[in-house]
Amino acid sequence: MSGSAKVTCLECSAVNRVPVDRLTAGPKCGVCGAKLTDGKVRALDPKALDKATKSDDLPLLVDFWAPWCGPCRMMAPQFEQAARMLAPNARFAKIDTQDFPQVSQKFGIRGIPLLILFRGGKEVARLSGARPAQEIADFVRSHSAASAR
Ligand code: ZN
Repeated sequence: MSGSAKVTCLECSAVNRVPVDRLTAGPKCGVCGAKLTDGKVRALDPKALDKATKSDDLPLLVDFWAPWCGPCRMMAPQFEQAARMLAPNARFAKIDTQDFPQVSQKFGIRGIPLLILFRGGKEVARLSGARPAQEIADFVRSHSAASAR
């Protein structure tokens, strides 16, 4: 990564450019003021998902889940914990595949929970099944090690 990183606001979908050395300083969205790298898991809609996965320089891990899925609900606190562990170097979000079945189609998802890691406009890796926080964090680290640090 060079001088600045593209980071989509997961609240309003605005694409922000954040100087890399400011990523740890609690950068906020220039449009809506939401914090961009606070380690909170945000619920996405397909539009925000599309923008973030196409433009972000920071690793973005998305949890494809649904309210009827027991393992998904069980994993949620672990996912939130992993999000805090990796902030501000990676961001975590989730999308409800019951509300937005089109995303399952788009990404060819057959089973949930499924985590997909995106980075630099591309899908990087997938991890399926409910996982503990440490395993989720290790997964993201192992696929993000090539730069950013
Ligand atoms: Zn915003």
